Amino acid sequence: MAIRKIRTMGEDCLRKKCKEIREVTPKIQELIDDMYDTMYDAMGVGLAAPQVGILKRLVVIDVQDGNPLTLINPEIIYRGGSQTDDEGCLSIPGKRGTVTRPMYVHCRAFDEDMNEFVVEAEGLLARCICHELDHLDGVLYADKAEGGLKNVEEDEE
Ligand code: ZN
Repeated sequence: MAIRKIRTMGEDCLRKKCKEIREVTPKIQELIDDMYDTMYDAMGVGLAAPQVGILKRLVVIDVQDGNPLTLINPEIIYRGGSQTDDEGCLSIPGKRGTVTRPMYVHCRAFDEDMNEFVVEAEGLLARCICHELDHLDGVLYADKAEGGLKNVEEDEE
């Protein structure tokens, strides 16, 4: 268990397409545990492996609904509706931006035992899944933010 360094916008690892995971080796299990530690330490709701410099298709999410999610090789298989709201990213500290995302997504992924499952998400969880999966293809919300990025301080006035 360890807190890893969160990479920030401008670093190459955030712009690469990540590789699929074939099996959950002890090293991958350690990475998963560290990603939860790192996410909770930074008070985030999601973290993708490239954000700690590892180019693998792995995401952890905890939107504080009592159901932390480990998504290995995740894929969105259904998108429905739309929602427009502010989001932020641990790799772009101090900023927020307005992004339109689907209101509903179904995401197929593998769990830590490499069993396939589907999570049906809406609202914040759907937004978070879309945001984190974008990271696996080198996409940042800053690329999609309507009207660019704002400083969090201004936002809280
Ligand atoms: Zn992010």
